[in-house]
Amino acid sequence: MKRLLVIAAAAMTLLAQAQNFPGTKPITFVVPFAAGGPTDRVARDLAEAMRAPLGGAIVLVDNAAGAGGSIGANKVAKASPDGHTLLLHHIGMATMPTLVRNIPFKVDSDFEYVGMINDVPMTLISKPSLPANNFKELTAWVLANKDKVNLGNAGVGSASHLCGLLYQNAIQVDMATVPYKGTAPAMTDLMGGQIDLMCDQTTNTTSQIEGKKVKGFAVTTSKRLTTAALKDLPTMQESGLKGFEVTIWHGLYAPKGTPADVLAKINTALKTALKDPEFIKKQEGLGAVVVTDKRVEPAEHKKFVAAEIAKWSPIIKAAGVYAD
Ligand code: ASP
Repeated sequence: MKRLLVIAAAAMTLLAQAQNFPGTKPITFVVPFAAGGPTDRVARDLAEAMRAPLGGAIVLVDNAAGAGGSIGANKVAKASPDGHTLLLHHIGMATMPTLVRNIPFKVDSDFEYVGMINDVPMTLISKPSLPANNFKELTAWVLANKDKVNLGNAGVGSASHLCGLLYQNAIQVDMATVPYKGTAPAMTDLMGGQIDLMCDQTTNTTSQIEGKKVKGFAVTTSKRLTTAALKDLPTMQESGLKGFEVTIWHGLYAPKGTPADVLAKINTALKTALKDPEFIKKQEGLGAVVVTDKRVEPAEHKKFVAAEIAKWSPIIKAAGVYAD
């Protein structure tokens, strides 16, 4: 009896929260990577764009970085399901289950899917002093320096890890990798010449390529990009890496058990933000494409993530790289 009363009280609390949501408490977007990086950039722009549609609620960003994105994801999986703690994650939701053997949560059953935000190309970049000025010269340099060349990434399970893995596989060179808590700190080291190469989202690399702080060699999409700073970069495929295509995406997730009407309010606010001309302009300037299709719907986004898991799992397994 006592247990039933406790359950009933908890249900009533959730109902009251749903009615008041978002109330006066701030909403937090947990970003599983370091501040100042590409996922963080998307989160901060989206936080601003969702503020008005959420009735003026304050939307904070919490960088719970580390372990390739799994620390932040786990934090949200275990958070109170009241709509105030949300996860803003990327393709790692689909690659982590294969790349990391023992993640402490389940991407399909520990989250409510809110919707997808954008598609983001990646770029292969190097330290500014690397003596190569195009993809062919880069490959020649890598082959000549096989034993000492290194590649930065945001840890096993991250997008930069996946992209770097595909690159190493394509050119058949096993490089030393340097894991960071996100590609913001990795970018600092790349610009400073402490590491040689990195593959990262355009939301982090566009202005650095434009400002010649790093060298850009190729984009990972199947077609060239139209963004001014990136339009001269060839695709990996036209550079000779047959079938090389990887596009990163970002989505919004809530802890399992978040009430349906709270989720509906967040999804409506997300859709409004994705139509905000300011948000669209900022994203386009960074090479990202804001989602306008049905993947913004929770069920469709979940289907898309499941399809991405099915797409990447055999590729990752064939490359044979996992972490515990
Ligand atoms: N670009 C990172 C990654 O490789 C994540 C980040 O720092 O936002 O997944």
